[in-house]
Formats: sequence, structure tokens, C-alpha cells
Amino acid sequence: MGSAVALLREDLITRIGDNVVSDDPERLAAYASDTYWRELAAQAAGDPLGRPDLVAVPRDEAGVSAALELADEHRVPVVPWGGGSGTQGGAVPVRGGLLLDLSGLDRILGIDERSLTVSAEAGVNGRRLERELNERGLMLPHYPASAEWATVGGYIAARGSGVLSTRYGKIEDLVLSLRVVLAGGEVIESVGVPRHAVGPELAQLFVGSEGTLGAITRASLRLAPLPAERRFATVTLPSIGAGIEAFRRVLAAGHRPSVIRMYDDEATRLALSPVVGEQLEGVCAVLCFEGEPEAVAVEAERTLASVREQGGRQLDPALAETWWERRYEFYYPPHQPELPAIWGTIDVVAPYSRIEPVYHALRAAVKEPYAHTGLQLRMHFSHWYPWGTMIYARFVIPDGGDTERGVELHDRVWDDGVEAVFATGGVINDHHGVGLKLAPYMERQHGAALGAMRRIKAALDPNGIMNPGKLGL
Ligand SMILES: Cc1cc2nc3c(=O)[nH]c(=O)nc-3n(C[C@H](O)[C@H](O)[C@H](O)COP(=O)(O)OP(=O)(O)OC[C@H]3O[C@@H](n4cnc5c(N)ncnc54)[C@H](O)[C@@H]3O)c2cc1C
Repeated sequence: MGSAVALLREDLITRIGDNVVSDDPERLAAYASDTYWRELAAQAAGDPLGRPDLVAVPRDEAGVSAALELADEHRVPVVPWGGGSGTQGGAVPVRGGLLLDLSGLDRILGIDERSLTVSAEAGVNGRRLERELNERGLMLPHYPASAEWATVGGYIAARGSGVLSTRYGKIEDLVLSLRVVLAGGEVIESVGVPRHAVGPELAQLFVGSEGTLGAITRASLRLAPLPAERRFATVTLPSIGAGIEAFRRVLAAGHRPSVIRMYDDEATRLALSPVVGEQLEGVCAVLCFEGEPEAVAVEAERTLASVREQGGRQLDPALAETWWERRYEFYYPPHQPELPAIWGTIDVVAPYSRIEPVYHALRAAVKEPYAHTGLQLRMHFSHWYPWGTMIYARFVIPDGGDTERGVELHDRVWDDGVEAVFATGGVINDHHGVGLKLAPYMERQHGAALGAMRRIKAALDPNGIMNPGKLGL
């Protein structure tokens, strides 16, 4: 590939300028890894899973189009890069090639306060967008814990979710339309509104496509007004089953609390208690209700009544408010584990009829068999839908030993966790995406449908340049 990359470099410099193209080794090293544990471990051992040969940071869509046209011509792999905050290895350039850093497309193009929409380029940073919207009394109600680093394009490409999703939906519910550059350089745009009957909704094909079908350059997204009131409650429940039933009933009745975050015993002790600054025990949940005060009052009252019906009771609401204020702190050092620890989040989703067996099977598969390693497993339920909910199962092994042993242990925990989820009818990811991490399980997850996805990929990217090795495609 050496000569193809050299030719691509020359052509790129001619078309989009030498100040946005680099093959400086130090620069390239910064793009070897997102936050996938296996890649971080490989890098620390001096043997990264991938490394780009070239990076381009175009400043506009024409630059992206030129890059994809030229890369296709020279058959050089392209890996789109947003903020590099992904947890699945989606942005790791496992086959080298061109790293297409989209952070140069950083314009907020327009805010329509009447329609409650924003049009933004893909590289706009999440935190910056939120600040600018808040100044106008608006918000993009997609609050992932990674907003500091992540981009609009990364939100969409990884099919993510934010802390307020129970009320406002996941990113796929917030995307109104997209502009995408395909391999070969063609620019396409989906219909300007998401509700229409002029054929299938093309934007959704690219939501969750993780850079394998094209580079998203622009999105129109749904906004919400900043709520007039945000009210908090903290509750404890007699069991996970009682909690699932209490909140299932709330969702079934049409209520949409913005936050329902229910922790199992271990997560209450190890994850919730340090955040709220008080040692809590048992199954606990922090709740948030927001919107117009009258509606908030009704929703809070009905939700707390449902908790009581299932044998739960209220704790100090100030605990939930403290959680809200400090909720991101624990994603930063010194609270995050570091190598040689092993960590990962097995996040799964299932209908209400299956979610409890999934929870118990996942816990049984990942907790006891690894007790000798000191594995901690913190499981909470944080995104609720009218038909089901999800489990965020964060495991940490304090000392994984040397890299070889660590990788073997890491992979075994994942295999066992995923097997338990499949065996009980769950789906292996709710919002972190697939990347490298879950690619080996895609055949099992999708069955024959993966073949259909591969044919779509082949039609849109006939030379297979877009993010090869990802999504199991
Ligand atoms: C501490 C921490 C907390 C997190 N919390 C959350 C959370 O609450 N919710 C959540 O959903 N996720 C969370 N994540 C995961 C991650 O931040 C999200 O998946 C995020 O949306 C990724 O955005 P990014 O811009 O960093 O994308 P990247 O990591 O750069 O890329 C992710 C994938 O999308 C592709 N991609 C990026 N931009 C484009 C584009 N413009 N066009 C086409 N493909 C593109 C990449 O090739 C890659 O496959 C968290 C991660 C960390 C480290």
C-alpha cells in the first residue's frame, strides 16, 4: 500500500492543501486509538492494533469529498474520526490508510428557534454545541457523558444515547436529516424532515454505520427548550424485579421522566454512593422529571406512587440532585481505572418480558466465575423505553497482569457476558456501538440480515475503503 498512500498524499495536497494533510509520525500516533481497552493495552505494550499512514483534516465538505474520491481511486482505506471518544475501537485504523479527522468541519450552520432544530457540521464538539444552545434557552437533549470530547458526527455514527434519553430519545430519535459523502466523493442528502412517505428514510441507514458507509458531514437535529423545572427524587426498591415493574408501569402509562437510573446492590455501593457522598445500600434509583411545572408535578407523583405500589420508598431527593451535579466527575481521572486494570461496559437491551432473566444471567456469567480476579460488576438500568429497558454492566478487574494474560481475561469476560445475553434473548448493545469489540458477534446478532447489510455496504462502497474491519461487515 506504500506507493498508493504516497500517491494519495500528493493528490490530497494538490486538491485540499498541504496544511491539512500530514504524515508526521507524532501526529499519526495521536490517532492510533479511541478508548477501547484492548487497543489501549496493545498500545501500552508497544504493539498498537492499528495506525494510520496519513491524516487529513479537511475544513469543509468539498475537502471531505475530494479525500473520499482520491482514496477510492487509490484504493486506500479511510477511517472517519470525530472526537476519538468511542469505546469500541470503531475509529482504530486497523488496516492503516487515511485517517479522516472531521473535527475541521466545526460550523454551527443555523438554529431555527421556531422549529426547534439545529443544523451543524459533523465535527462540532458536543459541549460547545450545548453551550451555544443553552445561551438561547435551548438544548440538544442528548447528554452523553463524553460530550466534552465527542462530536455531532460521532454521536450519530455510533448510534449513541444520553442521560436524558428516557424522555427525549436516543440520537436516532433526534436526527432529522443528514448529509453524507460516499466512497468516491458523491455527496447525498436525506429528505429534510424525518416523517414523510417518499420512500425509506435514508438518514437512518447512516445512524450507527460507524464510518463504514460514508462520512457524515452535516446533520439537522431536533432540539428542546431548556426545561422550566427539573425536579429530583431518590428511591429505594426491594429488588431489581420490583424496580423494573415500577418503572415499566410508568412508561406504559405514557409518562416520560427524563432520568430513571436504577442501580443494583453492588452498583449502589460502589458507583452511586461515592457520587452522592452517602453510603447507600440495596437497589436505589435516582429520578428526574422535567418540563412545565404542572406536568412535572403529575409525572413525579405518578412515578413515586408506582414505586410505592412495588414496595419501594423515597429517600432524600437531594441525593439525586447531587448525582445530577456530579454525574460526569466520575468519568475523569482519578476515578477512571488505569492499566494494568481491565475494564469494559457490557450494555445490553431487551424487552420487559426478557430483561430480568438477561440481568441475572449476565451477573451470573460475569461475577462469580471471575471472583478470584477481584472483578467488580456495577450494573444499572438507565435508558427506559415503553417496550423495554437496558442494562449498563460495568466490570473492572483491578489488576489484569501482563498484556497477554490481560487480553485473554478481557476477551473471556466479554465472551461469557455476550453468551449469557444471547442465551436469554437480549441484544448485545444499546448505545456504545460495535467497532472492533462486538464485530465478532454480529453474525450471531443479526443472522441473515448481516448478509443484507453487507450487500448494502458493497453497493455504497464497492472498493471496501470505508472503515474496513468494523461492524462485522
Ligand atoms: C468517558 C466516556 C463516557 C461515554 N459516555 C457515553 C454516553 O453516555 N453515551 C454514549 O452513547 N456514548 C458514550 N461514550 C462513547 C462515545 O463517546 C460515543 O460513542 C460518542 O458518540 C463517540 O463520538 P466521537 O465523536 O468521539 O466519535 P469517534 O470515537 O471518533 O468515532 C466513533 C465511530 O464513529 C465513526 N465516525 C465518527 N465521526 C464520523 C463521521 N462524521 N462520519 C462517519 N463516521 C464517523 C468512527 O469511524 C467510529 O467508527 C462514552 C465514552 C467515554 C470515553
